[in-house]
Amino acid sequence: MATDLQIATRRIVSANPATGEVLRELDCVTDADVGEAVARARLAQPGWAALGVRKRVAILREFQRLLHEKKSEVARLITREAGKPYVEALLTEVLVVLDATRFLIENAQSFLRDEPVPHGSLAMKTKTGRILREPHGVIGIVSPWNYPFSIPAVEALAALVTGNAVVLKPSEFTSLVARGLESFLRTAGVPQAVFQAVVGDAATGAALVNSGIDKLVFTGSEATGKRIAQAAAARLLPVVLELGGKDPMVVLDDADLEVASSAAVWGAFVNAGQTCLSVERCYVHRSLYEAFLEASVEKTRKLRVGNGLDAQTDMGPMIHERQLRRVEAQVEEARIHGARVLTGGMRLPELGRNFYAPTILADATHEMRIMREETFGPVLSVAPFDDDEQAIRLANDSAFGLAASVWTRNTERGEAIARRILAGTVMVNDTISCFGISEAPHGGVKASGMGRAHGRLGLEEMVRVKYLDTDRLPSMKKLWWYNYGESFARQMEGFVDLEFAQRLGARLRGALRSAGVLARGKL
Ligand code: NAD
Repeated sequence: MATDLQIATRRIVSANPATGEVLRELDCVTDADVGEAVARARLAQPGWAALGVRKRVAILREFQRLLHEKKSEVARLITREAGKPYVEALLTEVLVVLDATRFLIENAQSFLRDEPVPHGSLAMKTKTGRILREPHGVIGIVSPWNYPFSIPAVEALAALVTGNAVVLKPSEFTSLVARGLESFLRTAGVPQAVFQAVVGDAATGAALVNSGIDKLVFTGSEATGKRIAQAAAARLLPVVLELGGKDPMVVLDDADLEVASSAAVWGAFVNAGQTCLSVERCYVHRSLYEAFLEASVEKTRKLRVGNGLDAQTDMGPMIHERQLRRVEAQVEEARIHGARVLTGGMRLPELGRNFYAPTILADATHEMRIMREETFGPVLSVAPFDDDEQAIRLANDSAFGLAASVWTRNTERGEAIARRILAGTVMVNDTISCFGISEAPHGGVKASGMGRAHGRLGLEEMVRVKYLDTDRLPSMKKLWWYNYGESFARQMEGFVDLEFAQRLGARLRGALRSAGVLARGKL
């Protein structure tokens, strides 16, 4: 029996991608464990909701205080498990979560307040309406490894402050960071059953999707997102899908070349290009093209690649070799089809098995996979364009639509182009940073998914809307409750005229015709 159990247990390994050092081996929780976690959450959730938003906000305040106190420790753990440079862990993970908590502390109460719905129709004037925002119940969160702290934390905090319980299935590559998040929330005062991290692999995630949760917030690849959407459809489980991107950067002829080339280099190589909002396609006006490439190559060659715990490191390793092989294959295919590799385009085995050099490809075309499929690695693929219309066409020629950026000294022109790009976010003269604006909604269109995280729209995903309607004249029957007939039909024609006839005279005649309705006898 014991042997059977051992065979059945799946193990996951948490390792430092820079060194290969195994940080911890963990057992995947079983499907039954997932079911039990959801059942515990369901039992605990009404009490958490009944606690009230003020007390939940107070717990978030304590969470924020603790996280601020331990910021360096958390950032170092993120670097050890996910590889990114320490300062990126601090800014794109810890700071993002501290600020998202600030947003929730400032806004949760007003967000959850009943919202009056004034009525316009004369027929409904006796009634008063309000929108109530109620928790879904148990929210399942399935998250990726590339932002192992900020993604699940921002989503979980929004779910918790609105009165939900949460069961999180973190990426199998970053379980320790998720456990860290769990321990902070617990210390801050979130009851054990109200936030639980169930560590495991893809099958554990699938078990959570099928467990009876009330809503799922998924962040990950397009392929997994589609699988999850199918499973969710079978039981009409509401889902938010935050999927991949192939974000274009459009550098117009009047852009500041020095600024735009620095932005492209950072936007393509931050977190070794493993960012959903990475610059994956860069279109540069032909008049700036060669100078832009030259400046970008020069800046890229100066990047220091290494272990993220070394303060000098600009770019760390990729998460694992499988991801690196995918990038390598796309670069090779592009090279064969005529792209010029201006720098990089190779592994850096002297640093470790997961290191790939920051790479710039010129003359990339949409025939190449590198311009169509998500690369998710340190590659800046650049192509020239001749006019704004062509740039917009190229930017929109993608299955994805997460974010985009437009670079110009003329912000009006930039915004006009931004409006025509199909994406969840378009930045003029900046890249990626919107993820750090807690008020800004984050999410995509097309294959980049559906639903939003962050900001007020992110909070809306965490609640069910209930419309509460009360009639202020409880002793009055409605005039339209049966006893129809010729005379009633004429009166109602008059009423419709009273409300919607174009001319004043017709409205007045309508009022006279409908007045008799007040005297009618009913059921
Ligand atoms: P992934 O899809 O492989 O895995 C994401 C999570 O889903 C993991 O926890 C995994 O264990 C789980 N999972 C896998 N198969 C599952 C299944 N069938 N049912 C339920 N859960 C399952 O993605 P990844 O490699 O961890 O992350 C990288 C991807 O995430 C990239 O495509 C990136 O663009 C995307 N991403 C998107 C955003 C966004 O906000 N739009 C943010 C970060 C990452």
